[in-house]
Amino acid sequence: MQPIGTTLALLCTTAAIGAVWLHTQTDEAPLRSALDVLGLIAAMAAVARAVALVRRTALRPRAAGVMSTVGIVGIVALGCWIGANSPQLTWFGSQVSHGPRDRQQVALTFDDGPNATATLAIAAILDAHNAKGTFFTVGKAVNRRPDITRALIADGHLIGNHSYHHDSTHWLDPRYLELGKAQDAIGDQTGVCPAFFRAPHGQHTPFMAHVVHAHGMVMAGWDVSAGDWLSRDPQALARQIVSKARPGSIIDLHDGLDGNVDVDRTVLVRAMPYILDGLAARHLEPVRLDVLLNRPGYLARCDRRLVQTRAAASGIAPKSIAASVRLVRER
Ligand SMILES: [Zn+2]
Repeated sequence: MQPIGTTLALLCTTAAIGAVWLHTQTDEAPLRSALDVLGLIAAMAAVARAVALVRRTALRPRAAGVMSTVGIVGIVALGCWIGANSPQLTWFGSQVSHGPRDRQQVALTFDDGPNATATLAIAAILDAHNAKGTFFTVGKAVNRRPDITRALIADGHLIGNHSYHHDSTHWLDPRYLELGKAQDAIGDQTGVCPAFFRAPHGQHTPFMAHVVHAHGMVMAGWDVSAGDWLSRDPQALARQIVSKARPGSIIDLHDGLDGNVDVDRTVLVRAMPYILDGLAARHLEPVRLDVLLNRPGYLARCDRRLVQTRAAASGIAPKSIAASVRLVRER
């Protein structure tokens, strides 16, 4: 029985690790949820088998206790990792990952810019297709190329906040000063105060969600991504995006990478016409995120004290919506 038990424990462990890995490789929400459940069941089964094995040894009950503790900590850690990394799950605070499914609209969103060569090229392609995009800009990049962000705003595209440094550690800071710092950079350089925030790499914590809401902002995830930062084939990238999109989708693309203004994003620039033609063929209209979600794209002022109360937030909403709609209509 012992070898069979050991094999079962190893199989369950492998299944749990495999489910987590597959979770990170797909952007299909139903599949990710199924993999989450499968991974948790496999992890619990692995712990149960390991505890049962230890109990048969002379080391019990101390070893069994250690194994149980390690197993429980492992399962909790797995759950935390999945919740923190998902652009769709709301375990760690509210975030939107799509708009209404009953309208033929999608939002094309572009992260990590502004980029010296790609951002305005993408904007020009959007304009040529009578479309507007949403650009989640990185504060440090805005400070380097404020002219690009200003040109996007003047052209009727929407600007969102995508942190100041876009690194791999600040998301763990409970104060999450990155958000305010980026908001200040964007506000100082352009005069607008984004209402939408997207967490770098989609990684978020309950503390971050609290800070976002304290600023009167909305955390925006996505439900369509094709890993465009890795793609080298514009047509293949476009095919993936178009095939995954459905009514209400928030599509995640990258006009920059990690706020590096000089990185080469030619592949996305070349993919854009195929993406826009493909969406048109499926009768999906690309609109700004504020239009898709029917909520303000900008705050009236960047001063967080003015938007912390419900009364203040409700007061600025109609003005901001009207300003957003006017801006889009004028283009
Ligand atoms: Zn990013």
